[in-house]
Amino acid sequence: MTPASFSPTGIRFENIDKRYGGLYALRRVSLEVPAGECVAFAGRNGSGKTTLLRIAARLARPSSGTVNFLNGSGEKLATPPPAGFVAHATMVYDELTAEENMLLFARLQGIAKPTARAETLLAEVGLLERRNSLVRTFSRGMRQRVAIARALLNEPAVILLDEPTTGLDPQGTSWFAQTVRQLRDSGRTVLMSLHGESEVSTLATRAIRLDAGAVVADTRTGANFRSILAFANA
Ligand code: ADP
Repeated sequence: MTPASFSPTGIRFENIDKRYGGLYALRRVSLEVPAGECVAFAGRNGSGKTTLLRIAARLARPSSGTVNFLNGSGEKLATPPPAGFVAHATMVYDELTAEENMLLFARLQGIAKPTARAETLLAEVGLLERRNSLVRTFSRGMRQRVAIARALLNEPAVILLDEPTTGLDPQGTSWFAQTVRQLRDSGRTVLMSLHGESEVSTLATRAIRLDAGAVVADTRTGANFRSILAFANA
């Protein structure tokens, strides 16, 4: 990956509740994710994984509780840094090429030298040679990587990946794992929701299980990595 122009950033969730009407999507979630960690969230459908990632991305607000971003020494940052969120539905435009998808967002965000930046990021996710192909011709894994390249445009220190491996075949998963490895090794903080074990889950430095909106197991407090991930849907 390109030399870091972001500062290592952690996240602290304190007593987060997220309510939709009478339903608690998250309940009293307190977690500290230090800068540079690569966390896999597991849990059955509806356990709150997407909601937590959206709150970390500041796309949703907690009903109560606080989210703080931390510098590399664990001190609170006054201003939240940019975060890159890649939703399960990748929202890339089929009728544009990979590069056109990048340029559209680069211009919207006022990125300097958009073509050079788009090409650097497409190279980082292994799509430089396909930059002039229509996204319509891409596999799900390739679309995911376009979405990640796009999410990296504003140099986020924190990357949130919602179910990145769902729908990928083994080769796609393996290829995608390379990208996650690069994100992790570049010092970015990665939070991702996963179903089950895969080449991607082996990259996680920590696994956390949610159940009914609450954290019920965390490798940091001694839970077993495989038991958190292996029965993610149980
Ligand atoms: P997961 O990602 O683990 O499948 P979600 O975070 O998507 O879980 O959902 C947690 C709970 O919150 C579910 O019961 C879901 O139906 C509910 N929920 C999520 N988003 C909304 C919303 N916008 N309006 C109402 N309920 C929601």
